[in-house]
Amino acid sequence: DDPGNVKVVVRCRAFLKRERDKGAQCLIRMDPATQKTILLAPTDDDDNSNTRRVLEDKEFTFDKSFWSHDEADPHYAHQEDVYRSFAEEFLDHNFEGYHTCIFAYGQTGSGKSYTMMGTPDQPGLIPRTCVELFERIHQDPQPNTNYHVHVSYFEVYNEHVRDLLQPRTNPPVYLKIRESQTEGVYVQGLTEAEVKSYADVERLMKLGDQSRTVASTKMNDTSSRSHAVFTIRLKQIQHSLLSDQTIERTARMRLVDLAGSERAKSTEATGQRLKEGGQINKSLTTLGRVIAALADPRRHGKGRRPRDIVPYRDSVLTWLLKDSLGGNSKTAMVACIAPSDYEETLSTLRYADQAKRIRTRASVNQDCMS
Ligand code: ADP
Ligand code: MG
Repeated sequence: DDPGNVKVVVRCRAFLKRERDKGAQCLIRMDPATQKTILLAPTDDDDNSNTRRVLEDKEFTFDKSFWSHDEADPHYAHQEDVYRSFAEEFLDHNFEGYHTCIFAYGQTGSGKSYTMMGTPDQPGLIPRTCVELFERIHQDPQPNTNYHVHVSYFEVYNEHVRDLLQPRTNPPVYLKIRESQTEGVYVQGLTEAEVKSYADVERLMKLGDQSRTVASTKMNDTSSRSHAVFTIRLKQIQHSLLSDQTIERTARMRLVDLAGSERAKSTEATGQRLKEGGQINKSLTTLGRVIAALADPRRHGKGRRPRDIVPYRDSVLTWLLKDSLGGNSKTAMVACIAPSDYEETLSTLRYADQAKRIRTRASVNQDCMS
């Protein structure tokens, strides 16, 4: 077993046009020497009122603070820089047979999808991970080893799981979640497509994203309310001629683009939110409770039965990501922040700060067959 803390990084994006147009202030500072992120209290331009300093500057320290705000800055973090901070390490783990998980958290418009999927010109973590996975398999294979790679892509919307690799239907097909001794928690009937090259993956990613986007124009910003989970399964079957033993190792990489974190505010589930026809996002509020329970220092004390108090089963997403959150996985969180939104950014940074305290215990997923 390899216990370790959840790795937490934060990334601040550039101003969008509408922010620049209204002369938004950048409230974020990052210190490359210490990896500190500082959130400044907004100042009112035309004021010298006393209400001004009700909000305070806040300081947080993360494993990394990525400055993607200003391309002219020598410390500007490109897609490649964000990728490098996990990629090598996490892919090494996968080839050793460990599960990994990277999830992006943050308000709508903070850069989650840009970080996870990116654009054709600026690919994000998912395409980069897949490219490198096949580079390793094709250029540097282990002797006597067969590699099998499968991908799946689903979304959790309103506590329903939908396969993004299947064409949309009307009414939609929702898949059930099951739990078994051997498989753990899984989605029943989910498409697991075998892929032989990056080109195969690229085709499937496009298919899945289209499925997600079609929904968002029809149903009014689905992507801000749905969680998209991209999973790569790497199976390595190695036959040792010397001992005549076959070793099978399976690793799962989960790459998760969460719903907008503004959906987690249960206390504000009034007026506007009800009009949107949705409840609050149960999976997201439960994720918050799961993280709080896992981060609770009492959990590591004596006489507790931790499993009893972590509410994994209260939502679809947390149930499916149980292993990634507090179990057998090496896990990282990218907290995405907008540069000029004090309240939402503070809430994201607090969430991320709490996630740092979570410990997972990864073990190699390996079977020997003689
Ligand atoms: P989210 O998925 O969190 O709702 P997006 O990833 O869609 O947010 O980002 C919102 C907008 O900001 C998009 O137009 C995206 O291209 C842009 N953007 C986000 N992060 C960056 C970045 N680091 N560099 C350049 N553009 C970015
Ligand atoms: Mg998005």
